[in-house]
Amino acid sequence: MRKKIIAGNWKMNKTVADTSDLINALKAKLTEPKAGVIVCPPYTSLALAVELAKGTPIKVGAQDVSVNDDGAFTGEISIGMLKAAGCEYVIVGHSERRQYYKETDELINRKAQKVFASGLIPIICVGETLAERESGITSQIITGQIKGVLAGLTPGQMETAIIAYEPVWAIGTGKTATTQQAEEVHLLIRTLIAELYSPETAEKAVIQYGGSVKPDNAKELLAQPNIDGALVGGACLNADSFAAIIDAA
Ligand code: PEP
Repeated sequence: MRKKIIAGNWKMNKTVADTSDLINALKAKLTEPKAGVIVCPPYTSLALAVELAKGTPIKVGAQDVSVNDDGAFTGEISIGMLKAAGCEYVIVGHSERRQYYKETDELINRKAQKVFASGLIPIICVGETLAERESGITSQIITGQIKGVLAGLTPGQMETAIIAYEPVWAIGTGKTATTQQAEEVHLLIRTLIAELYSPETAEKAVIQYGGSVKPDNAKELLAQPNIDGALVGGACLNADSFAAIIDAA
């Protein structure tokens, strides 16, 4: 059985002092979590988060990475820097990166490859917009994104990677996909992985749901057969609500 993994994407929130408050509060609440726990603070808080999380079940991830190794790329962070800071995971292809920074499946795939090449694990995001869902092309969009972002990844990498299905219309909006809508797309993604790799690889693949996951809807979503965890935005900024989501898993 796949272990559930709950990841928190802090986005552009929390100073260094806030980071220490939040991680310490989480440590007090999460002594023996039943699910895997990942926190993804902003770059400025990564080293501190790693330090505070040492010896606890909490793992640390970054929210993005450059495809370049070093050099004149102002504002960018390389995979080597993330690895040296002690990160184990990196979110790639979040819809906010796709929307505001025009990231494409091809670039996201290169980032995922970069993350794997350094021995870290990517959390690879896909998801349709509201217009795409309303036009009835969700399956087409998800199929295209999955094929694009996974191109060239080996079966072993696929079995290690985390896929996050995040319908764009449900992110930060308070609108959650119904369990049926979410499960339907998760099953589609697992079927695609079975076709692209093998049924065995698909069985091992971890597919998280993201989009306004809260303590009161987490249990039902996480009970679906193809939903293996959650990528949480807003609700991960508070230790009580993030811990409640982890408990729900
Ligand atoms: C996210 O940003 O990945 C996300 C799912 O945000 P929220 O939980 O706030 O909708």
